[in-house]
Amino acid sequence: MSWLIDDEMDRERMLDMDRQVAPVRRRSFIVIAAALLICGPWLGWWTVIPLVIAGVLFAAADSAVHRVTYPEYLLFAAWTGSQLMIEISVALTGGPRSPAMAWAAIPIVTLSARFPTRGVILGLCVTVAMMIGVAFGVDAAAVIAHPPLLIMPLALAIAVAILSTALMHSDVRHRSAAVIDQLTGMLNRNSLADRTLELAYQAERTRQPVGLIVADLDHFKLINDTHGHAVGDAVLQDVAYMLRKQLRAFDLAYRIGGEEFLVLLPGADLEQTAAMAERLRRGVEADTVGGGLRVTMSFGVAASTRDAPFDYRAVSAEADSALYEAKRNGRNGVCGGLLAAPEPALR
Ligand code: GH3
Ligand code: MG
Ligand code: MG
Repeated sequence: MSWLIDDEMDRERMLDMDRQVAPVRRRSFIVIAAALLICGPWLGWWTVIPLVIAGVLFAAADSAVHRVTYPEYLLFAAWTGSQLMIEISVALTGGPRSPAMAWAAIPIVTLSARFPTRGVILGLCVTVAMMIGVAFGVDAAAVIAHPPLLIMPLALAIAVAILSTALMHSDVRHRSAAVIDQLTGMLNRNSLADRTLELAYQAERTRQPVGLIVADLDHFKLINDTHGHAVGDAVLQDVAYMLRKQLRAFDLAYRIGGEEFLVLLPGADLEQTAAMAERLRRGVEADTVGGGLRVTMSFGVAASTRDAPFDYRAVSAEADSALYEAKRNGRNGVCGGLLAAPEPALR
């Protein structure tokens, strides 16, 4: 993936957190701006300028973040830029004697919300290096005569990094237990509601259709009965992996029941959705799962149209009845799309 991010899920989380952090960051900017304006008579009014530059950096990064291949580097660069602005302010207001010396700790809080631990460590190292550089560069004599000027703000920055990282990890653990299916690693039914609302909103703005596929393993009970529950679980894991492998990065795959899966395809019309379901069907049919078994799946597809908003209830009800039809037609087929005649079951 990249040095800063492990997989697509981490990147999705990073972008999601970035959206959530943006309004909070604006509020903290207001507090900092107020402090700088109040202190203007003593520090000089120009101190607001680096803050404005940092704000522009973040705004530019936020607006470009969805258009680049490695958004994590862009966000990290904007973050480093804001840290640099703080250090420039510190340098110009007295270096180690600047009252803003400890402000470098503020942006550190936002690191752990977006990056894994190595990103936090890198950000912390960059910050510590800048703080030491500015303190010694501006007034080495002051630091040597009175080391607490540097040691105290450094300790604050490091402690903030440690605390915020631990808090964020526990938050991620709780949240992923709530939205991720522990057996397959797919999203679970809980996370569907939020996402369908978001998709409905997006679809209305962009006038894009949304495709929906429901899939159910054929005669799965038989696998459990003949090979045992553990093999059944392994089959579910393998099938989940096979489904995900075929999907595009921004398609969403859910395990919504025992051996039932749901896929959301933003931007896909009925024809594209049916074609994707057919691809998934062939993928499942082609490979062996659970250590040498062959399974098949039945699929129901539906999609919202380009001009109507995405109505999850209506579209999923339609896909459900299409799935029922696929089961009735002998399984291992796709129903509901424009693939009028489902392929005959192979076994
Ligand atoms: P059909 O083709 O009509 O879908 O037949 P089926 O046997 O797949 O249908 P049914 O829905 O009756 O069976 C689903 C079975 O899935 C029942 C249950 O034993 C099994 N199952 C549900 N959740 C799990 C799970 O987490 N692990 C395992 N191993 N089996 C599960
Ligand atoms: Mg089944
Ligand atoms: Mg079922």
